[in-house]
Amino acid sequence: MDLCDYKQITALLNDVGFHFSKAKGQNFLTAAWVPERIAEASGADGDTGVVEIGPGVGCLTERLARRAAKVVSYEVDRALEPVLARTLAGLDNVEVIFQDVMRRDLAADVKELLPGLRPAVCANLPYSITSPVLKKLFEARSFDTVTVMVQKEVAQRMCAGPGQADYGAFTLLTQWYARPELLFTVGPECFVPRPKVTSAVVRMEMRTAPPADVDEKAFFAVVRAAFSQRRKTLVNALSGICGREDAAAAVAACGLDGHVRGEQLSLAQFAALADHIQKTVFQKEI
Ligand code: SAM
Repeated sequence: MDLCDYKQITALLNDVGFHFSKAKGQNFLTAAWVPERIAEASGADGDTGVVEIGPGVGCLTERLARRAAKVVSYEVDRALEPVLARTLAGLDNVEVIFQDVMRRDLAADVKELLPGLRPAVCANLPYSITSPVLKKLFEARSFDTVTVMVQKEVAQRMCAGPGQADYGAFTLLTQWYARPELLFTVGPECFVPRPKVTSAVVRMEMRTAPPADVDEKAFFAVVRAAFSQRRKTLVNALSGICGREDAAAAVAACGLDGHVRGEQLSLAQFAALADHIQKTVFQKEI
Protein backbone atom coordinates (compact mmCIF):
# COMPACT_ATOMS: atom_id res chain seq x y z
CA MET A 1 0.00 0.00 0.00
CA ASP A 2 1.27 3.51 -0.86
CA LEU A 3 0.66 5.55 2.30
CA CYS A 4 1.02 8.83 0.40
CA ASP A 5 -1.44 7.97 -2.35
CA TYR A 6 -4.45 10.28 -2.03
CA LYS A 7 -6.98 7.71 -3.27
CA GLN A 8 -5.67 4.90 -1.07
CA ILE A 9 -5.50 7.11 2.02
CA THR A 10 -9.02 8.46 1.61
CA ALA A 11 -10.42 4.98 0.98
CA LEU A 12 -8.67 3.72 4.11
CA LEU A 13 -9.91 6.64 6.22
CA ASN A 14 -13.47 6.41 4.83
CA ASP A 15 -13.49 2.72 5.73
CA VAL A 16 -13.22 3.55 9.43
CA GLY A 17 -15.39 6.70 9.24
CA PHE A 18 -12.47 9.02 9.99
CA HIS A 19 -12.96 12.81 9.94
CA PHE A 20 -9.98 15.20 9.81
CA SER A 21 -9.62 17.37 12.89
CA LYS A 22 -8.25 20.89 12.54
CA ALA A 23 -7.80 21.13 16.30
CA LYS A 24 -5.48 18.12 16.17
CA GLY A 25 -3.48 19.64 13.30
CA GLN A 26 -4.33 16.77 10.95
CA ASN A 27 -2.82 17.47 7.53
CA PHE A 28 -1.50 14.22 6.09
CA LEU A 29 1.26 14.03 3.49
CA THR A 30 0.30 12.91 -0.01
CA ALA A 31 3.64 13.50 -1.78
CA ALA A 32 5.94 10.52 -1.28
CA TRP A 33 9.16 12.52 -1.72
CA VAL A 34 8.43 14.50 1.47
CA PRO A 35 8.43 11.73 4.14
CA GLU A 36 11.30 10.12 2.22
CA ARG A 37 13.39 13.29 2.49
CA ILE A 38 12.42 13.97 6.12
CA ALA A 39 13.37 10.42 7.14
CA GLU A 40 16.67 10.76 5.28
CA ALA A 41 17.36 14.17 6.89
CA SER A 42 16.84 12.65 10.34
CA GLY A 43 19.98 10.55 9.80
CA ALA A 44 18.22 7.57 11.41
CA ASP A 45 20.17 4.33 11.05
CA GLY A 46 20.43 0.89 12.64
CA ASP A 47 21.68 2.42 15.92
CA THR A 48 18.92 5.01 16.20
CA GLY A 49 15.80 4.98 18.35
CA VAL A 50 13.31 7.40 16.82
CA VAL A 51 10.54 9.24 18.61
CA GLU A 52 7.75 10.39 16.29
CA ILE A 53 4.83 12.63 17.19
CA GLY A 54 1.62 12.09 15.23
CA PRO A 55 1.95 9.17 12.79
CA GLY A 56 -1.36 9.95 11.02
CA VAL A 57 -1.73 7.05 8.58
CA GLY A 58 1.93 6.15 9.08
CA CYS A 59 3.68 7.37 5.92
CA LEU A 60 6.68 8.83 7.79
CA THR A 61 6.55 6.12 10.50
CA GLU A 62 6.94 3.41 7.86
CA ARG A 63 9.98 5.10 6.31
CA LEU A 64 11.59 5.66 9.70
CA ALA A 65 10.99 2.04 10.69
CA ARG A 66 12.90 0.88 7.60
CA ARG A 67 15.95 2.95 8.60
CA ALA A 68 15.98 2.92 12.43
CA ALA A 69 16.38 0.21 15.06
CA LYS A 70 13.07 1.20 16.67
CA VAL A 71 10.34 3.84 16.34
CA VAL A 72 8.13 4.99 19.21
CA SER A 73 5.24 7.06 17.90
CA TYR A 74 2.66 9.02 19.92
CA GLU A 75 -0.80 9.51 18.44
CA VAL A 76 -3.53 11.39 20.31
CA ASP A 77 -6.37 10.31 17.99
CA ARG A 78 -7.66 6.82 18.78
CA ALA A 79 -9.75 6.89 15.61
CA LEU A 80 -6.45 6.19 13.81
CA GLU A 81 -5.88 2.95 15.74
CA PRO A 82 -7.59 0.62 13.20
CA VAL A 83 -5.88 2.49 10.35
CA LEU A 84 -2.38 2.16 11.82
CA ALA A 85 -3.03 -1.48 12.71
CA ARG A 86 -3.37 -2.08 8.97
CA THR A 87 -0.73 0.28 7.57
CA LEU A 88 2.03 -0.66 10.01
CA ALA A 89 1.25 -4.39 10.14
CA GLY A 90 4.45 -6.35 9.65
CA LEU A 91 6.74 -3.60 10.99
CA ASP A 92 7.73 -5.17 14.29
CA ASN A 93 10.09 -2.35 15.34
CA VAL A 94 7.27 0.22 15.70
CA GLU A 95 5.45 0.93 18.96
CA VAL A 96 2.48 3.30 18.71
CA ILE A 97 1.35 4.86 21.98
CA PHE A 98 -2.17 6.30 21.75
CA GLN A 99 -1.80 9.26 24.07
CA ASP A 100 -1.28 13.02 23.99
CA VAL A 101 2.51 13.49 23.74
CA MET A 102 2.22 16.46 26.10
CA ARG A 103 1.24 14.05 28.88
CA ARG A 104 4.30 11.81 28.48
CA ASP A 105 7.56 11.91 30.40
CA LEU A 106 9.81 11.78 27.34
CA ALA A 107 13.09 11.33 29.22
CA ALA A 108 11.62 8.29 31.02
CA ASP A 109 10.19 6.90 27.76
CA VAL A 110 13.55 7.21 25.98
CA LYS A 111 15.28 5.33 28.79
CA GLU A 112 12.65 2.63 29.03
CA LEU A 113 11.60 2.16 25.40
CA LEU A 114 14.79 2.97 23.46
CA PRO A 115 17.59 1.65 25.70
CA GLY A 116 21.08 1.63 24.21
CA LEU A 117 19.99 3.48 21.07
CA ARG A 118 20.90 6.95 19.80
CA PRO A 119 17.70 8.88 20.55
CA ALA A 120 16.37 11.14 17.81
CA VAL A 121 13.07 12.86 17.09
CA CYS A 122 11.58 12.92 13.62
CA ALA A 123 8.06 14.22 12.99
CA ASN A 124 5.64 16.17 10.87
CA LEU A 125 4.38 18.16 13.84
CA PRO A 126 0.72 19.12 14.31
CA TYR A 127 0.55 22.93 13.86
CA SER A 128 -1.81 23.14 16.81
CA ILE A 129 0.92 22.31 19.36
CA THR A 130 4.17 23.26 17.60
CA SER A 131 5.62 25.64 20.20
CA PRO A 132 4.70 23.71 23.37
CA VAL A 133 5.82 20.40 21.91
CA LEU A 134 9.16 21.84 20.76
CA LYS A 135 9.70 23.33 24.22
CA LYS A 136 8.94 19.92 25.71
CA LEU A 137 11.38 18.21 23.33
CA PHE A 138 14.10 20.73 24.23
CA GLU A 139 13.56 20.50 27.96
CA ALA A 140 13.60 16.69 27.90
CA ARG A 141 17.34 17.00 27.07
CA SER A 142 17.13 13.43 25.85
CA PHE A 143 17.76 13.63 22.10
CA ASP A 144 20.82 13.85 19.86
CA THR A 145 18.92 15.35 16.94
CA VAL A 146 15.42 16.68 16.32
CA THR A 147 14.15 16.83 12.74
CA VAL A 148 10.70 18.35 12.37
CA MET A 149 8.35 19.80 9.81
CA VAL A 150 6.69 22.98 11.04
CA GLN A 151 5.02 26.05 9.55
CA LYS A 152 7.59 27.94 7.46
CA GLU A 153 7.26 31.09 9.60
CA VAL A 154 8.04 29.08 12.73
CA ALA A 155 11.06 27.51 11.01
CA GLN A 156 12.32 30.98 10.07
CA ARG A 157 11.90 32.16 13.67
CA MET A 158 13.84 29.16 14.97
CA CYS A 159 16.75 29.74 12.58
CA ALA A 160 16.90 33.59 12.56
CA GLY A 161 19.94 35.65 13.48
CA PRO A 162 20.16 38.96 15.40
CA GLY A 163 18.67 41.93 13.54
CA GLN A 164 16.46 39.77 11.30
CA ALA A 165 12.70 40.32 11.31
CA ASP A 166 11.99 36.79 12.60
CA TYR A 167 14.47 36.99 15.48
CA GLY A 168 12.74 36.77 18.87
CA ALA A 169 12.27 34.91 22.14
CA PHE A 170 11.47 31.64 20.32
CA THR A 171 14.73 31.95 18.35
CA LEU A 172 16.72 32.20 21.56
CA LEU A 173 14.80 29.34 23.18
CA THR A 174 15.60 27.14 20.17
CA GLN A 175 19.23 28.18 19.91
CA TRP A 176 19.81 27.80 23.65
CA TYR A 177 19.12 24.08 23.25
CA ALA A 178 20.06 23.41 19.63
CA ARG A 179 21.81 24.37 16.41
CA PRO A 180 18.93 24.57 13.92
CA GLU A 181 19.16 24.45 10.15
CA LEU A 182 16.25 25.06 7.74
CA LEU A 183 16.59 22.32 5.12
CA PHE A 184 13.71 22.71 2.62
CA THR A 185 10.16 23.97 2.24
CA VAL A 186 7.02 21.98 1.40
CA GLY A 187 3.99 23.52 -0.34
CA PRO A 188 0.32 23.10 0.70
CA GLU A 189 -0.32 20.90 -2.37
CA CYS A 190 1.62 18.09 -0.64
CA PHE A 191 -1.07 17.55 2.04
CA VAL A 192 -4.66 16.46 2.53
CA PRO A 193 -6.48 18.55 3.56
CA ARG A 194 -4.45 21.45 2.14
CA PRO A 195 -3.18 23.81 4.84
CA LYS A 196 -3.24 27.56 4.17
CA VAL A 197 0.48 27.86 4.88
CA THR A 198 3.80 26.63 3.54
CA SER A 199 5.77 24.21 5.72
CA ALA A 200 9.49 23.76 6.25
CA VAL A 201 11.77 21.06 7.62
CA VAL A 202 14.24 22.02 10.33
CA ARG A 203 17.02 19.76 11.54
CA MET A 204 18.54 20.45 14.94
CA GLU A 205 21.70 19.10 16.47
CA MET A 206 20.95 19.26 20.18
CA ARG A 207 23.60 20.85 22.36
CA THR A 208 25.19 18.64 24.99
CA ALA A 209 25.92 21.70 27.20
CA PRO A 210 24.32 25.15 27.41
CA PRO A 211 25.87 27.69 25.00
CA ALA A 212 26.74 30.14 27.80
CA ASP A 213 27.70 30.00 31.45
CA VAL A 214 24.72 31.84 32.92
CA ASP A 215 21.79 31.04 35.17
CA GLU A 216 19.15 29.66 32.78
CA LYS A 217 16.19 31.25 34.58
CA ALA A 218 17.84 34.67 34.52
CA PHE A 219 18.67 34.26 30.80
CA PHE A 220 15.07 33.48 29.85
CA ALA A 221 13.65 36.17 32.17
CA VAL A 222 15.80 38.78 30.40
CA VAL A 223 14.95 37.42 26.93
CA ARG A 224 11.21 37.40 27.69
CA ALA A 225 11.35 40.97 29.02
CA ALA A 226 13.44 42.18 26.05
CA PHE A 227 10.92 40.89 23.49
CA SER A 228 7.73 41.60 25.41
CA GLN A 229 7.76 45.18 24.14
CA ARG A 230 9.28 44.91 20.71
CA ARG A 231 9.66 48.48 19.54
CA LYS A 232 11.02 49.72 22.87
CA THR A 233 14.70 50.14 23.63
CA LEU A 234 16.26 47.34 25.67
CA VAL A 235 16.60 49.63 28.71
CA ASN A 236 12.88 50.44 28.64
CA ALA A 237 11.91 46.81 28.08
CA LEU A 238 14.09 45.60 30.97
CA SER A 239 12.76 48.28 33.34
CA GLY A 240 9.83 45.95 34.01
CA ILE A 241 12.01 43.31 35.66
CA CYS A 242 14.75 45.33 37.33
CA GLY A 243 13.93 49.06 37.36
CA ARG A 244 15.17 51.66 34.90
CA GLU A 245 18.37 52.60 36.70
CA ASP A 246 19.61 49.01 37.09
CA ALA A 247 18.58 48.23 33.51
CA ALA A 248 20.56 51.20 32.16
CA ALA A 249 23.56 50.29 34.32
CA ALA A 250 23.50 46.65 33.15
CA VAL A 251 23.26 47.64 29.49
CA ALA A 252 26.18 50.07 29.89
CA ALA A 253 28.25 47.54 31.88
CA CYS A 254 27.93 45.08 29.00
CA GLY A 255 29.31 47.66 26.57
CA LEU A 256 25.96 48.12 24.80
CA ASP A 257 24.54 51.38 23.47
CA GLY A 258 21.78 52.85 25.68
CA HIS A 259 19.42 52.96 22.70
CA VAL A 260 19.98 49.37 21.55
CA ARG A 261 16.91 47.17 20.97
CA GLY A 262 16.65 43.57 22.14
CA GLU A 263 16.33 42.21 18.61
CA GLN A 264 19.88 43.38 17.85
CA LEU A 265 21.57 41.29 20.58
CA SER A 266 23.22 37.93 19.94
CA LEU A 267 22.65 34.97 22.28
CA ALA A 268 26.10 35.60 23.83
CA GLN A 269 25.22 39.26 24.48
CA PHE A 270 21.91 38.27 26.09
CA ALA A 271 23.81 35.78 28.25
CA ALA A 272 26.32 38.43 29.39
CA LEU A 273 23.51 40.87 30.15
CA ALA A 274 21.49 38.25 32.06
CA ASP A 275 24.58 37.25 34.02
CA HIS A 276 25.19 40.88 35.02
CA ILE A 277 21.54 41.42 36.03
CA GLN A 278 21.52 38.10 37.90
CA LYS A 279 24.60 39.03 39.93
CA THR A 280 23.84 42.71 40.56
CA VAL A 281 20.04 42.74 40.84
CA PHE A 282 18.32 39.34 41.16
CA GLN A 283 20.76 37.92 43.74
CA LYS A 284 20.49 41.08 45.86
CA GLU A 285 16.69 40.70 45.90
CA ILE A 286 16.77 37.13 47.23
N1 SAM B 1 2.84 11.99 10.20
C1 SAM B 1 1.64 12.15 9.40
C2 SAM B 1 1.99 12.72 8.04
O1 SAM B 1 3.08 13.29 7.92
O2 SAM B 1 1.17 12.60 7.13
C3 SAM B 1 0.60 13.03 10.11
C4 SAM B 1 1.07 14.40 10.52
S1 SAM B 1 -0.24 15.45 11.06
C5 SAM B 1 0.46 17.03 10.63
C6 SAM B 1 -0.11 15.51 12.82
C7 SAM B 1 -0.51 14.24 13.58
O3 SAM B 1 -0.32 14.50 14.98
C8 SAM B 1 -1.95 13.80 13.46
O4 SAM B 1 -2.00 12.41 13.25
C9 SAM B 1 -2.60 14.15 14.80
O5 SAM B 1 -3.69 13.35 15.16
C10 SAM B 1 -1.41 13.99 15.73
N2 SAM B 1 -1.48 14.78 16.98
C11 SAM B 1 -2.03 16.00 17.18
N3 SAM B 1 -1.88 16.40 18.44
C12 SAM B 1 -1.19 15.42 19.08
C13 SAM B 1 -0.74 15.23 20.42
N4 SAM B 1 -0.96 16.16 21.35
N5 SAM B 1 -0.08 14.09 20.74
C14 SAM B 1 0.14 13.14 19.79
N6 SAM B 1 -0.26 13.26 18.51
C15 SAM B 1 -0.92 14.37 18.15
